[in-house]
Amino acid sequence: MSYDLLFRGGRIVDGSGLPSYVGDIAIKDGKISEIGRIQGGAVKTINVDGLVVAPGFIDHHTHMDGQIQWDPYATSEPEHGITSIVMGNCGLALAPVNRGDEEALVKSFVRVEAIPRAVLEQGIQWGWHSYGDYLDRLEGRLGINVAGLVGHIAVRQYVLGDASTERPATAEETQRMKQLVREAMEGGAIGFSTNRNDRHMREDGKPVPSRLAEDEELFQLCDALGELNAGVIQINEGQPKIAKQFALYDHVARRTQRPVVWQIVRYIASRPNLWKEQLDAVAAIFQSGQRAYGASSTTPTVRRFTLKNTQVFDEFPTWKNVMSLPLEARKQTLADPATRQKFRDDFSDPRQTLFHRRWDLVKIEKVVNPENEKYTNKSVADLAAMRSEDPLDAFLDLALGEDLETSFQNAKSGGDQQAKAEILRSPYVLVGNSDAGAHVQYGAQFGYGTTLLGLWVRQRGVMSLEQAIHKLTFEVASIYGLAGRGLLQPGYAADLAIFDPEKIMSCEPEWAQDYPAGTKRLIQRAVGMHYTVVNGRVICEDGRLSGDLPGMVLRTPAYKARGAAAGA
Ligand SMILES: [Zn+2]
Repeated sequence: MSYDLLFRGGRIVDGSGLPSYVGDIAIKDGKISEIGRIQGGAVKTINVDGLVVAPGFIDHHTHMDGQIQWDPYATSEPEHGITSIVMGNCGLALAPVNRGDEEALVKSFVRVEAIPRAVLEQGIQWGWHSYGDYLDRLEGRLGINVAGLVGHIAVRQYVLGDASTERPATAEETQRMKQLVREAMEGGAIGFSTNRNDRHMREDGKPVPSRLAEDEELFQLCDALGELNAGVIQINEGQPKIAKQFALYDHVARRTQRPVVWQIVRYIASRPNLWKEQLDAVAAIFQSGQRAYGASSTTPTVRRFTLKNTQVFDEFPTWKNVMSLPLEARKQTLADPATRQKFRDDFSDPRQTLFHRRWDLVKIEKVVNPENEKYTNKSVADLAAMRSEDPLDAFLDLALGEDLETSFQNAKSGGDQQAKAEILRSPYVLVGNSDAGAHVQYGAQFGYGTTLLGLWVRQRGVMSLEQAIHKLTFEVASIYGLAGRGLLQPGYAADLAIFDPEKIMSCEPEWAQDYPAGTKRLIQRAVGMHYTVVNGRVICEDGRLSGDLPGMVLRTPAYKARGAAAGA
């Protein structure tokens, strides 16, 4: 038999978690054909002796809904061995949409996901209506595989229009929304997402529509998935309130028997025991027979910001007001001692906030003036000590002296290695929270998988390579219902990540100017990732994209192909 592609002599880590072994892997017609010692020839044979051959990674938490329209590879995903992505998270989606409502959907993406307006205005060529239309239009134009969740925000906007940001739904409206969710699933969505995060607003300051939903509305929309026995339910809740949230996850999982995925399990400096409470709460749900996976990232969440453009301090009223002033007025206000006193008062309010208020966790990333070079990579606490100033004054004075161009990094989480290792090892935790396609000027976490393999497996030894690959592949495919993916088995899709286990690592994010409207964004490269293969074709080799478009839209068994539904 002649194969299309043959990789010889790699170490097969098959995604199941079983111990790895050395073997060849042959591909024909986009599928894995044979694994082991392969006698037949192939159109192309590549020697991968010394490299690991794994299933392609599946990034389940992206906001690529917009970017995938102009970038068929969802870069920088393939550079990290990612062969499939899930978009439509956190309630945000670009379908279903009524003509004239496009702008309302853009408003949420601009603010919640920090994607510059000009990018979306120029990059998205609207024209679809239903969720199925939206997916169908991607077919044939994809470098990687794409699956989508239908977002509560879009569904609510569709049925309630402008009232979606103002009031609860009537029983009749809820039924129409439920029907829309059902149609989206039948059109190819792999699940439903919602957003109950009380910090999430649209660009116009209105709450995102899903926040107006009462519990009963959410339950009924989730029932659409229960009735179809298909799909995953993703919930973004924001500020963790343990008892209330876990009761909700438990209830949704129980009434639908569908897996729930919630954001996020993490170590945060402002609440050092939170992660343990979260894992205990979720363990109880699994013990009772329901599924409610917590998602967690593999990297400390780092946000880059300048005082020209940041949401870091939005939880504090004085800060928020000052940051929304025009630039010149903002500079004057930031210099004003009375305002600085108000900032301090804001920070000393004892209520829980996501911002940790610790100046040792805010780092100076890049200065503008050469004489400030000595502060680069120092924390604001160090800066204050060096200048014998109060930290807040030191922080603001440095930025003001550089016309607010100084670039800072805020490390929100990940400070405790022991905690992070336990989080990553938990069977109830789904790794990867890349948020790819969002916050494009604040950070880039395409490399959550290469970081897991390089940092947590090779350098820190917190789990085996086989376990890590399992978490990046088959675990995700199983929870998200991506049949025939995530394992190296004959008959499975030939989605592969082939890398050097001694070198694999993510690089520091870097700036690129490859977005519509000439907009800058952060991308991320990897070292040690040699081949990324999608449906049997190499789309990325040593960081170079091939130009091939073998990607597909991935759907669940609830999908009814156009025409098939009418004939049935
Ligand atoms: Zn998200």
